[in-house]
Amino acid sequence: MFKTSLFHKWYDREMEKNCKVCHQAFEPEPGFYYGAMFVSYAFSVAITFVVGMVLFHVFGDPEMWVYVVSLLGVVGLVWPLMYRYSRAIFLHVFGGIRFDAKYAND
Ligand SMILES: [Zn+2]
Repeated sequence: MFKTSLFHKWYDREMEKNCKVCHQAFEPEPGFYYGAMFVSYAFSVAITFVVGMVLFHVFGDPEMWVYVVSLLGVVGLVWPLMYRYSRAIFLHVFGGIRFDAKYAND
């Protein structure tokens, strides 16, 4: 789906136009991925909740700046993952992609 691996060039955000195996278009219509912001937002909410709960239980409700700095650090570390997975999830849910067994072994 993306031109480079996350582990090779984590900062690269370029996507292929089509799947190399089945030729499925990765951008069904212009501006399609604006909706992926909502998936990314859901990831952020989940991360905020988890980081908040961990800090609260491990450090016994630290000051607000600890929450903010920790959250910014964690989100800063995982944003390449969030970017790629939010696009992939959005494409699979709203992009009309269906599994086709014909391409399963390619
Ligand atoms: Zn494909």
